[in-house]
Amino acid sequence: MLNSLISRRRLIASGTLASASVALSKFAFGASMQDTSAQSPADAKAMPGVVPAYLGSSPQTLPPLPYADNALEPVISARTIGFHYGKHHRAYFDNLHKLLAGTPLAQASLEQVIMHSHDQPALADVFNNAAQAWNHNFYWNSLSPVTTQPSEKLQAAIVRKFGSTEALTKALVTTSASQFGSGWGWLVLDQGELAVIKTSNAETPFTRGLAPLLTVDVWEHAYYLDYQNRRPDYLVATVSQHLNWAFASANLDRV
Ligand code: FE
Repeated sequence: MLNSLISRRRLIASGTLASASVALSKFAFGASMQDTSAQSPADAKAMPGVVPAYLGSSPQTLPPLPYADNALEPVISARTIGFHYGKHHRAYFDNLHKLLAGTPLAQASLEQVIMHSHDQPALADVFNNAAQAWNHNFYWNSLSPVTTQPSEKLQAAIVRKFGSTEALTKALVTTSASQFGSGWGWLVLDQGELAVIKTSNAETPFTRGLAPLLTVDVWEHAYYLDYQNRRPDYLVATVSQHLNWAFASANLDRV
C-alpha cells in the first residue's frame, strides 16, 4: 500500500504525460497503426520512455478474447482460460486503474505507462500491472484455434536464422521451459534478426528495444490446471498446434 501511495504521489507530481495525445486501438498492434518508418526498435534503446511507433497504443481496458474460451481445447481448457483471462488478466487492469486513478497516466496508453514506469523502483506496481495487462493482450493474439501459416517474409526470416520452422519452435519451447519461475517466452525481432528470448515476471521485450512477434505465457496460472508441473508438455502442445503465425507475420510487417 505504501508503495502504491508513493507511486500515485510521484505520478501526480510528474504530470509529464498529462498532455500526451492518446490514440486508442482495440489491441496492442491494433488496426490504427502509426507511421512505422520514423522509429526502429533500436531507436527505443536510445530514447528511454519513448514508445516505439510500431507498437501503436492500447487502452487501459480489458479487450475481449479473440475466440471462445473453449476454442483452444484440448490443449488449453476453457477452465484455464476462464481463470486466466477472466480473473488474472482482468485483475491486472483493475489494479492498474486503482494505481493510476487521478494521475496523469490514467488516460495514457498501456505502452506509454509501461515505458514511463520501466526501471523505476517507485513505480514497480504500475509497471508490473501495465506490462502484465499488455503481455496478456499479446498472448491471446499469439494463439489461434485454427491453423495459420507464416507469411513469405516471415518464413524467409525463420529459415535464414533457424533453418526451419521446426527448429524455431523447438528453440521457443526449450527457452520458454527454462525460464526460472514466472515469465514469458518470445519470438522477437532484434536489430532486424529473429531471436527467441525469455523474460522474467512482467518484463516485456519492447522496453529493451526488441520488437515482439509472438509470446507464450509460462506463469503457472497459464497451464497448472491442465498440466500441473508439466510445463514442457503445455509448451510443446501450444507451440505445435496453436501459435498464430498470421499475427506474427503482421507484427513483423509493422516493425
Ligand atoms: Fe498469464
